[in-house]
Amino acid sequence: MTNTYEDLYPVNKLRLAIVGAGPAGIYAADIALKAERDFDISIDLFESLPAPYGLVRYGVAPDHPRIKGIIGALREVLDRGDIRLFGNVEYGVDITMDDLKKHYNAVIFSTGATKDVPMNIPGIELNGSYGAADFVSWYDGHPDVPRTWPLTAKSVAVIGNGNVALDAARMLAKHADDLLVTEIPDNVYQGLKASPVTDVHVFGRRGPAQAKFSPLELRELGELRDVDMIVYDEDFEIDPASQALIDSNKQVFVLNKVMNEWRTRETGKASRRLHLHFYANPLEVLGDDEGNVTGFRYERTKPDGKGGVVGTGEIREIEIQAYYRAIGYYSSPLKDVPFDAAKGVIPNHEGQVIDADGTHINGVYATGWIKRGPVGLIGHTKSDAMETIAHVLEDKATWWTPEEPEEGAIVDLMDSRGIEYTTAEGWSALDEYEQKLGEPEGRARIKVVDRETMLKASRAE
Ligand SMILES: Cc1cc2nc3c(=O)[nH]c(=O)nc-3n(C[C@H](O)[C@H](O)[C@H](O)COP(=O)(O)OP(=O)(O)OC[C@H]3O[C@@H](n4cnc5c(N)ncnc54)[C@H](O)[C@@H]3O)c2cc1C
Repeated sequence: MTNTYEDLYPVNKLRLAIVGAGPAGIYAADIALKAERDFDISIDLFESLPAPYGLVRYGVAPDHPRIKGIIGALREVLDRGDIRLFGNVEYGVDITMDDLKKHYNAVIFSTGATKDVPMNIPGIELNGSYGAADFVSWYDGHPDVPRTWPLTAKSVAVIGNGNVALDAARMLAKHADDLLVTEIPDNVYQGLKASPVTDVHVFGRRGPAQAKFSPLELRELGELRDVDMIVYDEDFEIDPASQALIDSNKQVFVLNKVMNEWRTRETGKASRRLHLHFYANPLEVLGDDEGNVTGFRYERTKPDGKGGVVGTGEIREIEIQAYYRAIGYYSSPLKDVPFDAAKGVIPNHEGQVIDADGTHINGVYATGWIKRGPVGLIGHTKSDAMETIAHVLEDKATWWTPEEPEEGAIVDLMDSRGIEYTTAEGWSALDEYEQKLGEPEGRARIKVVDRETMLKASRAE
């Protein structure tokens, strides 16, 4: 009979490392601590940014305060004091897989996704062609992106038919003064305020019945001050397959109702317009001799009768000076962790990370967008975490055997490497600092953008 880890090392404690303090990582920690079990758990949460909350802080749009408010619930988990947060610590740079094996019984990766899916059409590399994820990082004050964003275009195309496309389009079309009630950093307000934009065109490859918008996000566009919603009658000749979808799916029904109301609205008085175009397959971003975006060429598509589209051969062009692709997010591979480049995820079976043969790599787990791919809302990361944690707890027999499981050892290691880590108390200090910044202007908070100031405020220097 072979001895299990438990036979050899009768531990009664799980030392768990979680890498990535977005919602997936925080929910995983919370669920693990609340789970029924016959052993103790101590959790260290590592985060590469000085502040936690991942895309809730750096993805969710600033004018969505209700969703941003989820930070309050996540904060309650961190404030409880039974999870140690180490911010400003990047896995693969500051700490390695060997470090984790030396100090913990297991690790969960919840590193999410931050980049744009590449788009391979001619002209995509032109000046004025951007990924929406980069734009989002800019307007949401991510510390690792440039402070300025070139907002010189009058006419802009946003490619994509999901909520990120709508976020980008709304942020481009909305008057900056209407964002002053939010937490947007000053540089973002100044940048948007100077924008000469008049027309933002959102393009989808398929029809209005196939759009992946949330009804709330779509409806919100129609409420923007001094922005006309423009939809085109030619896109609303609904084919039988689309009609069946509208009749059978409540969300699709509501989306179509909202857009149909816009078809009858009076327009022409607003200084900005937000256009929704459907049945448009991107062919090329057009540019001038200096390499600047001047236009967008696309092929008109039509329904194929099965919910998809086929090309019609009709080529159209539109004049634009900026092109944003919002066709999806993509995760980054992590050192010494398998990565499925086609799907952009860590290969896993219900959160147990697997090797090329499909065998679970002992002690290694994944949850959230890095486990499932970059789709789904914040709430979905909770069910993800439940599944992953169930495996972590069941797998006690195959956990790692750390050489230095004492809680002080990892802190000593980070200190010896001169890592300026932040903590949950540090987040409270930064939170207070941001709220104070907002006070003189009557705003709830102004977000701090640069890493140095974030660190100074977090480390109370
Ligand atoms: C633009 C945008 C808008 C959205 N709006 C909404 C919305 O309104 N409502 C909604 O419900 N959902 C929204 N979502 C979806 C929501 O943000 C995701 O479902 C959720 O954030 C995924 O959680 P996660 O923890 O897996 O990843 P993330 O939120 O990406 O968190 C991952 C964390 O891991 C950290 N990390 C990455 N690499 C490392 C490393 N090497 N070492 C240490 N730490 C690392 C990151 O810094 C980050 O903090 C939006 C998403 C985007 C992109």
